Amino acid sequence: MKKDDKAWLQCINCQAVYPLSYRGYICRECGDLLDVVLDLDRVDTRSWSIFKDRPKGVWRYRELIPVDSSKKVTLNEGGTPLIECSRLSKWVGLKKIYIKFEGANPTGSFKDRGMTVAVTKAVELKVKGVICASTGNTAASLAAYAARAGLPCITVIPQDAALGKVFQALAHGAVLVKVRGSFDQALRIVFSEAEEIGYYILNSVNAWRLEGQKTLGYELAEELGGEYSVFVPVGNCGNIAAIWKGLTELKNLGLIENTPKMFGVQAEGAAPFAKMVRENRDILDPIKDPQTIASAIRIGKPVNWKKALRAIRESRGDAVIVSDMEIREAQAAIARLEGLGVEPASAASVAGAKKMVEEGRISPDEVIVCICTGHLLKDPNPELFKPKALIEIEPGKQKLTHELSKLNILQLETTTH
Ligand SMILES: *Cc1c(COP(=O)(O)O)cnc(C)c1O
Ligand SMILES: [Zn+2]
Repeated sequence: MKKDDKAWLQCINCQAVYPLSYRGYICRECGDLLDVVLDLDRVDTRSWSIFKDRPKGVWRYRELIPVDSSKKVTLNEGGTPLIECSRLSKWVGLKKIYIKFEGANPTGSFKDRGMTVAVTKAVELKVKGVICASTGNTAASLAAYAARAGLPCITVIPQDAALGKVFQALAHGAVLVKVRGSFDQALRIVFSEAEEIGYYILNSVNAWRLEGQKTLGYELAEELGGEYSVFVPVGNCGNIAAIWKGLTELKNLGLIENTPKMFGVQAEGAAPFAKMVRENRDILDPIKDPQTIASAIRIGKPVNWKKALRAIRESRGDAVIVSDMEIREAQAAIARLEGLGVEPASAASVAGAKKMVEEGRISPDEVIVCICTGHLLKDPNPELFKPKALIEIEPGKQKLTHELSKLNILQLETTTH
């Protein structure tokens, strides 16, 4: 690496430094994670003004993303709606809740923010193909961006991956490998065989993914003044670390004064990270057989836990554990009180906030942002929702008005409005 480089890769443990052309995704010296590091003194971005006139989205911030943006592989990801939710705020018991609706991304999850940058990097590195292990959304996103770039793509998923996500990977032409086992086992297969296959790994262990996802932090900072906290569902621990990276860069550039606290939310049956944080330990204890309805965070051995721990400690945040029942209730509340459709993992953010209010760990006066990471249609499970009313009609034989009045529906509506 040359001294005058504006950016480089750096090991989070031994600080070893690699040029941006480094094709690996872990440190050659010690095997730990790498960070993309920008020399902020050499970034000529001291005010918001250069961003303001550009379209919203990941590439609005191109000076802060050290890949060649003239060759970007993009589907116009990012720039997702930030939605104030007053009815949901009451349900949770907080002054104000915003939902950052990442389901509005091109393939329906925040993974697209990472993939636009990481697949651009993959093309720059002239890789022959791309591969990932995935609970589903990474596969859906990678398949789409690989299609856009014309790159061969292999996705390795556990057998119980959510239907909508598998359908997307298929539609975009990825090779689909179903592992009779967990996500963690799928990832182990990718780690051990990707090199032999000759494909580039695009799991979130790849720092270029987080480099795109950090724009979630940029957007929050641009959209929200004042004090707020951020609630993030945590699986492989990449996204919470990426959001924090974005926010810290802005602070160090002098573009924001204060940074929010970061709260990580995990599901009871898959909470190795949250347990470590709650017990104030420094080493993650993986779990063998993670269980939760929130398939996107059904992970027992999160790869990026060290980066996420740093995010929570540096921001003076915390972690919280919620049950599947609490996740289901939150998903229904978001859908029915606000009209927003999010998948179970995404609803964990809201469930986590509610739990912390109930436990008295945050004050009802707080303003919070819940990162709702993926779209409702990703994981269509009619069993999760009790229909308000389900009526079947034989045309010509039954009258709708009659059926409605039998169920007292019209009456109910007039008394409740
Ligand atoms: C990937 C994903 C997560 C978890 O993000 P990590 O970076 O793995 O912690 C949460 N929700 C959804 C919908 C996801 O796709
Ligand atoms: Zn190292």
